[in-house]
Amino acid sequence: MSATQQTAPAGAEPGSPHPPPARLGLFGGSFDPVHLGHLLVAQAAQEEFGLDRVYFIPAAQSPFKPASPPAPAPQRLRLLRLALAGRPAWEVDDREIRRAGVSFTIETAREYAAQHPGARLFYLIGADHVPSLPQWREAEALAHLVEFLVIPRPGESPAPLPAPFQLRTLRGFPLGVSSSEIRARVRAGRPIDLLVPGPVAEAIRNNRLYL
Ligand code: ATP
Repeated sequence: MSATQQTAPAGAEPGSPHPPPARLGLFGGSFDPVHLGHLLVAQAAQEEFGLDRVYFIPAAQSPFKPASPPAPAPQRLRLLRLALAGRPAWEVDDREIRRAGVSFTIETAREYAAQHPGARLFYLIGADHVPSLPQWREAEALAHLVEFLVIPRPGESPAPLPAPFQLRTLRGFPLGVSSSEIRARVRAGRPIDLLVPGPVAEAIRNNRLYL
């Protein structure tokens, strides 16, 4: 049983027949590859906002990176599954990969809202994405479906956003690492062992990925 399952979720009434609404974290991104910055983001959100589950949702293709298609989806999914192994409250959700094409968060958020009626949906984003939020497809509708949890990212100053966006900033554990830096290090033959989980570094090495 995980630590989050042992403690009563925030808002639970002792002896109440109605469980409190589930608090679900949605974490979208390219994950090309997943790295320790991503895992620290999920951990901070879970601990600071009492999330019951965190879903890692790799995009088929980010609307903001049209010129750079990511590594093949099966490869990114396999590394994500290796990174999340043994953490029952964290799940890989491949719905955007299955949907294919450009991945729009509003579609994913609508599906979650339909599949988890009554749940509170929290969308995790790094501070680098906050300025672009108003340009996200159907941004206003999205702002009504999810609450954004912003994770500080070294080098990014906190950017406030007007209503209807609800932004909460996490304390987090800011780590200045990115997928592009990992890819550059692999290409340059530099070690990545301290920047990604061990099994992910091993799979990248053994399968000669990102060379
Ligand atoms: P790239 O370097 O290829 O642009 P990335 O490292 O930013 O990739 P993504 O998969 O695009 O990773 O990011 C998914 C989400 O995780 C985004 O919201 C991003 O801001 C956030 N994120 C990634 N790395 C960090 C980090 N070190 N600290 C905080 N947030 C992060």
